[in-house]
Amino acid sequence: MRIDIITVSPELIKSPFEHSIIKRSIDKKLVEVHFHDLREFALNKYGKIDDYQFGGGAGMVLMIEPIDKCMSKLFSQRKYDEVIYMTPDAKTLNQQTANKLSSAKNIIILTGHYKGVDQRVRDKFITKEVSIGDYVLSGGELAAAVLCDAIIRLIPGVLGDETSALTDSFQDNLLAPPVYTRPAKYDNMKVPDILLSGNFPKIDQWRHDEAVKRTKSIRPDLLSNDEDED
Ligand code: SAM
Repeated sequence: MRIDIITVSPELIKSPFEHSIIKRSIDKKLVEVHFHDLREFALNKYGKIDDYQFGGGAGMVLMIEPIDKCMSKLFSQRKYDEVIYMTPDAKTLNQQTANKLSSAKNIIILTGHYKGVDQRVRDKFITKEVSIGDYVLSGGELAAAVLCDAIIRLIPGVLGDETSALTDSFQDNLLAPPVYTRPAKYDNMKVPDILLSGNFPKIDQWRHDEAVKRTKSIRPDLLSNDEDED
């Protein structure tokens, strides 16, 4: 998979790609990530990429021309499965969306700043809009990093068996069951006997029951959730 990220702040977004599982996936060439500094496509030598909004009001808006120049350059080089804009006024990212995007070959992620991007950017280029939650961040870089992490860990070969994504929360509309490791007893807290029994069918059943119990208590909405990917 190739991911092209368009940003006004490349240094802000690079770090999550330089560590741990994401870095290893890049080293193993399972994914390529390219950062594009919007200021390199600025209108003038002073790096102009934003302007006041028509109609007045606080906050600058990212202009269409620099984004158009950057997108056009990328479109001339390859076809993209999705052109994504990170924005709080979109449907919230969920595991189904991450699953679907993980099978894409090439995607562009546009990150906004200030008041966001000129609406015509969204109308002309964007095929999918993604929010990471009902709150407003200063810029789309951290949101894009969250989306990339959620997608990349699902690409076959990225996770080893020991961290299989299939047993994580949300894969089957359930939260994950509790997990324990050594010691088997700490203060007065004991690991449930069943996990020490070696009876794997019963352990599977226990994990499923605990997952259902936890989901009913914390996220009952998931149990009636049969859609939510678009
Ligand atoms: N004026 C916009 C609004 O009210 O919907 C908010 C703009 S926000 C200050 C600047 C940028 O941060 C957005 O263009 C977007 O790229 C990013 N951003 C902020 N919150 C986000 C969220 N919850 N999910 C995804 N991106 C977000």
